Order: sequence, then structure tokens, then C-alpha cells
Amino acid sequence: MTLDDCRALDAQDPLAALRDQYILPKGVIYLDGNSLGVLPKAAPARIAEVVAKEWGEGLIRSWNSAGWFDLPQRLGDKVGRLIGAAPGEVVCTDSTSINLYKVLFAALSQQAATGRKLVVSERSNFPTDLYIAESMCRERGFTLKLIDASELPAVLTDEVAVLMLTHVNYRTGAMHDMKAITAAAHAAGVLTVWDLAHSAGAVPVALNDSDADYAIGCGYKYLNGGPGAPAFAWVHARHADKFVQPLSGWWGHAAPFEMTPHYRPAAGVSRYLCGTQPIVALAGLECGLDTVLAAEPLGGMAALRKKSLALTDLYIQLVEQRCGGHGLSLVTPRAHAERGSQVCLSRAEGAYAIVQALIARGVIGDYRAGDDQAPDILRFGFTPLYLGFEDVWNSVEHLLQVLETADWKRAEFNAKNAVT
Ligand SMILES: *Cc1c(COP(=O)(O)O)cnc(C)c1O
Repeated sequence: MTLDDCRALDAQDPLAALRDQYILPKGVIYLDGNSLGVLPKAAPARIAEVVAKEWGEGLIRSWNSAGWFDLPQRLGDKVGRLIGAAPGEVVCTDSTSINLYKVLFAALSQQAATGRKLVVSERSNFPTDLYIAESMCRERGFTLKLIDASELPAVLTDEVAVLMLTHVNYRTGAMHDMKAITAAAHAAGVLTVWDLAHSAGAVPVALNDSDADYAIGCGYKYLNGGPGAPAFAWVHARHADKFVQPLSGWWGHAAPFEMTPHYRPAAGVSRYLCGTQPIVALAGLECGLDTVLAAEPLGGMAALRKKSLALTDLYIQLVEQRCGGHGLSLVTPRAHAERGSQVCLSRAEGAYAIVQALIARGVIGDYRAGDDQAPDILRFGFTPLYLGFEDVWNSVEHLLQVLETADWKRAEFNAKNAVT
């Protein structure tokens, strides 16, 4: 595989034109769209319009006249197209952490009468998911049981109420088989809560086809919604009208402007809204969503997935071909069915500093700390919407140079920042 081969792949790439939808800084190869997506070209003007026209001129009238009121549902329908959900099944609102609180509470309420007392999740799940589950279990008399993925499905006994998993692991990029695991969970009487933070816009997701129960996900990663963009929540239609989420604010009321003293939940997933929505942030999210949906005429998530796998395959191949002997190991599974849209490497020494040295060269990935059971990780996300095969070649070239020159040993690359 040569640089010319990579250029040839770019020349044949049917998705190449999608890159033009974004503002990407010159000289940057951005391998961190799994953590914060890039800026859609349409976003600055759209956000300025919302501020100057809809807020500045429309004022409070814009809740009706500019369609602010049903933005969470309208954007939810757009997200639904990416995750195998039907119209009316998703809302965009709040953060991933808060939405997890809501759906996990609903799932536990649903299991309350069964006497099942365990919530099962992976030890390597994203910390906020575990923290939210830990506090909810404490408050509601459940126990959080942390497992390794290899213990599934055997761990799903009649003591388990809810299985809470992140579909694509944030540290390793390993992807679960949602349909098979959900079937095993249901066979054991267990409800499933799926976190799609590293899946929505990254890999095809089929929530209804998988018969999942609850799902949440992030707006600022592969959906390019901007820093802290609203997240989303999905509830299977069989549960959506039945369970009241605990943050029963007026925005999830059946008729908020009747201003009645008692809560009456809205029909369906709209009850998962809580308070007044962040309209400017939702406008930014819509710009991001539209850039992902722009792939629909070109084959949609299936086409994005095909390119994503080609990019991550190429990255793995080039790292092994060109950086062999430098102590890097592959953490992400090689099997396509088990891989999300990122490649994670580990190294006994210098993982943090190598990432910093790469960032100084304009190759932006990130570092995730390990512990006694998991290695430090160099994490590289591949977003087929704006990355090409030549970018992959160049990012490996920089990695090789950082390793060969031992550039990463410089003090400036070894001082830890607050956000890694
Ligand atoms: C990114 C991520 C989150 C982020 O949660 P916030 O509430 O947006 O901070 C949660 N869960 C997973 C699995 C993530 O990858």
C-alpha cells in the first residue's frame, strides 16, 4: 500500500464530496470526531439567524412561528433515520448522562414488581454511565454488577433487571451485537438500555429490528452538533406510553400550557422532555444532523459504514506495515462485525505524550487513561464524512515520525492537560 494507492482510493470515493459540508482547519487531520464532531459550514449562519432573527426579532412569538416548540421531536425524527427508529420515537434533549438517568429509571420501574435486583453493565463502560447507574441503584435498592463482555450472556440470570451497555466501547472501539444480546436478555426476562454515543452516525443501528427497549446517545460526537449539543432518547413503542420518567418537568406534560397543578405525561417519548429546551443548541444540532443525512442519497449509513471500515482497515494495515517494531499493539477488534468507527492502539510507555506530539503536528486524536486492568490508549476516530484515504496515510506517516524521532519524549508533550 502506497501513498499513490491511497490517492487512487480517494479519487474513486463516492462520498468524497461530503467533506465540503464542513469547515476544517488547514493542516489538520481530525481523528477525534468520535469525541467532538467538526463544524458544519451551515452552522455559523444558521445559529446567527436563530439568534438575530428568531430570538432578536421574533422574541417569544418564535416558540410558535419559528417552530421552536417541537424542535426536540422534529430533530428526534432525523436521528431516528440514523438509528433504525420510527418517526415519533426519538426526542433530542438534555445530555446523554441525564437521558440515561431518565430511561434507566423507567426500565427499573418496569422491573420493580419482579423482585429482580441487579443492573448489569460492563466494567469498561463510559464512566458517566456507571456513575449514574451507581447512584440510581443506591437510591432505588438495586445493585450494579460490573462484568467483562465475555461474561455475556451467561450473566443474564433471573436476578437481573436491566442490562445497560454501550453499543460501541469508547475506549476500545469494540462493538456489541445488539440484536443477539437483546434477544438473550429478553429470553432471560431482562430489559436492555443501549448507549449509542459512539454509534449514532458512526455505524448502522437498528433499534426496532433489534427489539431493544431503551436507548440514548450523544449529539456532539459523530452527529456534529457542536460542543455540549443536546443528546437524544429513544424508547420502544411498547414502553413509551407506560412509564413515567422521574424528571417529570412541564415540557414533558401532556398540555404544558394548561398550567395544571398535577403532572400528566405527554403521549409517547415526548414525556422524556423535562424543561425548556436550548433552542440555539438544537439549531446547531440540526445543522450537524443534516450533514449526516446528506449521505442518504449516496447510500446512507450503509455507505458510510463501508467507507469507515475501509478507513479503519487501512489505518490498521499501515500502522502494522510501517510502524512495526515501535511497541504499538492493536486494541480494537479486527473483525468488522465487532468494530465501531475508531482504532485504538496501546503502548507500554508514552501513550499520552505520543498523542500530544501528534496533535502538535496537526493530527488530532486523543488519549484515554488505563488502569490496572486496561492499558493506556491512543484513540483515533475515523469519520467517513470528512476523512479520506490520503488522510489515513498522512496520519500514519506522522505517527511513524513521532516514534522514530522520539519527539514524544519532550517535556512539553508529557505535561497533562485537564481534558485529554
Ligand atoms: C461521550 C459519552 C457520554 C457523554 O455524556 P455527557 O452527558 O454528554 O457528558 C456518555 N456515555 C458514553 C458512552 C459516551 O461515550
